[in-house]
Amino acid sequence: MELPVLTSPVAQRPWYADGLAFHCTQCGNCCTGPPGVVWISDQEIAALADHLGLTPQETVQRYCHQVGGRFSLTESRNPNHGGYDCVFLRELPAEVGDGQTIVHAQRNCSIYPVRPLQCRSWPFWKSCLTSPEAWAGAGQRCPGIGQGPVLCQQEIESARDQLPAAAEPE
Ligand code: SF4
Ligand code: SF4
Repeated sequence: MELPVLTSPVAQRPWYADGLAFHCTQCGNCCTGPPGVVWISDQEIAALADHLGLTPQETVQRYCHQVGGRFSLTESRNPNHGGYDCVFLRELPAEVGDGQTIVHAQRNCSIYPVRPLQCRSWPFWKSCLTSPEAWAGAGQRCPGIGQGPVLCQQEIESARDQLPAAAEPE
């Protein structure tokens, strides 16, 4: 006789079942740091080209490079902190008080409406959702983690599943 396999609802419950808080502060930390990749698909290159008023070929020539047969947005070394900035990261000085004291630079994405899926799906990457520790680790560089409204499990998984595993940087 074959016994039915019973599964525990508790065992199926992911650790984030009660939701996760996230609100992007637009600090730009995820757009700079050690050299990496920002994968961009052909479809995303076409959308970016439209946004910039360029052809896809011009967009690739100016802003992308090939890594293992795929395109990534180009990065350049930031002389102020030594990290590598995405080509579309913009730093805007912020002034206070007498209008001269610069406290910190505001950073933002200059192609925000058409940024690649890799950027739009952060921090709900599979690698960040494997455990509470992985999520907390991601929060070390991303101050938006733990802030703002709580996303429910369905919203988290919907964001996570937008990005194919192969498109997630290692
Ligand atoms: S495209 Fe925009 S969001 Fe993505 S890494 Fe570059 S600056 Fe950051
Ligand atoms: S590191 Fe987090 S809070 Fe900062 S810009 Fe990136 S997603 Fe937003």
